[in-house]
Amino acid sequence: MTFRATVLTLFPEMFPGPLGISLAGRALADGIWSLEARDIRASATDRHRSVDDTPAGGGPGMVIRADVLAAAIDAASPADDPRPRLLMSPRGLPLTQERVADLAAGPGVVIVAGRFEGIDQRVIEARRLEEVSIGDYVLSGGEIAAMALLDACIRLLPGVMGNAQSGASESFSGGLLEYPHYTRPQVFEGRAIPDVLTSGDHGKIAAWRRAESERLTAERRPDLLRKR
Ligand code: SAH
Repeated sequence: MTFRATVLTLFPEMFPGPLGISLAGRALADGIWSLEARDIRASATDRHRSVDDTPAGGGPGMVIRADVLAAAIDAASPADDPRPRLLMSPRGLPLTQERVADLAAGPGVVIVAGRFEGIDQRVIEARRLEEVSIGDYVLSGGEIAAMALLDACIRLLPGVMGNAQSGASESFSGGLLEYPHYTRPQVFEGRAIPDVLTSGDHGKIAAWRRAESERLTAERRPDLLRKR
């Protein structure tokens, strides 16, 4: 089953962009996922093809119009579309690996990428857009946020990652950050690979990795430990 991604944006030429190379790009070429970047402006109706207007109540910037965006959403996604409709937004719930895995297990996503000050509140309500944030900072547009979300989903699709195991031990799966990695050379600028990793004792290696994961998580992300 193909994971179908539709992105509504004022800058469709930004896609597939980085999603066209490496893992995600190969998976796109292989039909494991599909991507449709649709221009919101194609749904503008006035002579000037305007998509935005000044904020009601005053203040800086411009706001994407509800009527234009609703028409764009309706053209991209019929009422019985089973895919969740997401709006990239700093006001949304922060994206988690758990939510990513959830989305990756579904039929795909319809994503609205905002621009300017954001979009008219009424279209969020009328089209039931779920606001999703990729972190507590402000980007100039939702496209890069949409790419981050899609990238995180795509690498979890069956057949995308070379080693199916690598998803299971990663940061956040199991609520911990990942343990440190090492590879050749055996000694780098006087630093050796920890002995346990070259001991061949798989029980000891697993215990060391687990302890490192817990130590790093306690040090850097005590909030994750509290959540577990
Ligand atoms: N005025 C808004 C910010 C608008 S930024 C506010 O203060 O909340 C313009 C667009 O960039 C947003 O509509 C959204 O689609 C996107 N964006 C910015 N920061 C984001 C973030 N942290 N996560 C997801 N999308 C973001």
